[in-house]
Amino acid sequence: MDFAMTYTPEQEAFRAEVRAWLAENIPAGLGSEPAGEDEAARQYQLKRELGRLLGEKGWLYPAAPREFGGGGLDIGSTLILDEEMRRQHLTLPPYYDSGGMMGSHTILVWGTDEQKRRMLTPIYRGEVRTWQLLTEPEAGSDLASARLAARRDGDHYVLNGQKIFVGSAHGADRFWMITCTDPAGARHQNLSWFMVDAHLPGITVEPLPVLADVAEGHKNTVYFDDVRVPADCLVGGENNGWKVANTHLQLEHGAIGSLRRDPIVDRLVEYCRAHTGADGRPLIEDPDVRDGLADIHIRIETLRLLTTRNFWRTYNRKTEHYNGPQLTYLRKTTGLWLTTAILDLIGPAALTSDEVWGALDGHAERQQRDGIVDIIPGGTVDVQRVVIARALGVGGRKPRGG
Ligand SMILES: Cc1cc2nc3c(=O)[nH]c(=O)nc-3n(C[C@H](O)[C@H](O)[C@H](O)COP(=O)(O)OP(=O)(O)OC[C@H]3O[C@@H](n4cnc5c(N)ncnc54)[C@H](O)[C@@H]3O)c2cc1C
Repeated sequence: MDFAMTYTPEQEAFRAEVRAWLAENIPAGLGSEPAGEDEAARQYQLKRELGRLLGEKGWLYPAAPREFGGGGLDIGSTLILDEEMRRQHLTLPPYYDSGGMMGSHTILVWGTDEQKRRMLTPIYRGEVRTWQLLTEPEAGSDLASARLAARRDGDHYVLNGQKIFVGSAHGADRFWMITCTDPAGARHQNLSWFMVDAHLPGITVEPLPVLADVAEGHKNTVYFDDVRVPADCLVGGENNGWKVANTHLQLEHGAIGSLRRDPIVDRLVEYCRAHTGADGRPLIEDPDVRDGLADIHIRIETLRLLTTRNFWRTYNRKTEHYNGPQLTYLRKTTGLWLTTAILDLIGPAALTSDEVWGALDGHAERQQRDGIVDIIPGGTVDVQRVVIARALGVGGRKPRGG
């Protein structure tokens, strides 16, 4: 069976337009792996600028509703934009903005029209970048245990508490978050969902180093100390936050994802063509190396196909079942499997980003770190299994009368 995607002449004409525009507007060198924090910070600013330009054209969030600043484009055009950005070694959007990718869907479902205009338009146009503030020291996988307090005081809420493992370097303009509005209330009925200005007095952001993101620097701990948030930042009603959060949790658990095919296969093939083994022959001629490359290709291609399926299902508003966590589980376990597969293939060169000894311009070494760390965020591997089991109705709860 041929799984290749085909496009109409109109779509190919759109691709040509996109390609020409990107060639004109992407600054030189953007898309390469940044060496060090300064270069990462410089590239981030260029990506934000590119994001604003894409936003003006409705190409930053091409499938988002036009009335709120999105592109209102169909799935084919969205795929083409994604593919053309990938061709330039960039993502769409070109920087991580969890509000645009997940939080915005929540606001589309639960927000008032006024909130949709106020909160979504700056995201879709690339004017703001957002972080998600969910995890707390005592609430990770068990997110419903969130305790960051939001107490009503007139036409404001007053926030106190902390969130950890948040966002990345380079700052954010808005936070979307879960808070506890009824500390004595029943589980799942005591939470509320807010979109908050990240620069309000009383908010402190402190760096939190993690193994991945060495180039970007760190994650963050965010402290709230009597932060006064206007009441109209509450989305979906007081104490209804668990239901509201379930919209983005479903997306985070794999209902959408970047359609980007991991470029690691192409990079590895290039490397094996250009480098020789101990016997002096190009690595690519070694049958074991070829087998290894084929295994990696199969895994990566399977991920791409499942991602495309989920993207299509979400775009066509299909009810989610086990599909999201199935993809996320496979993506996370594949990332970890890849660390060993790449090490087997190219040896210790995968362990360093050193210019002389390192491989794939630092991408191999980064993959070693990312593969390990990525099994955690957005629901750990174990959590994905729990969600799949629940969707399939197996495990955990005792059958009635049992
Ligand atoms: C790189 C990175 C980026 C992140 N970015 C963000 C961010 O931007 N915003 C944000 O809010 N958070 C973020 N997080 C936090 C992340 O969502 C949490 O770390 C994650 O949900 C796990 O929570 P925890 O660390 O408290 O571990 P715990 O929930 O304490 O889990 C500990 C272990 O127990 C296992 N476990 C827990 N519950 C179950 C269960 N029911 N069944 C079986 N096993 C279970 C877990 O799989 C894990 O192995 C990030 C984390 C990382 C590492």
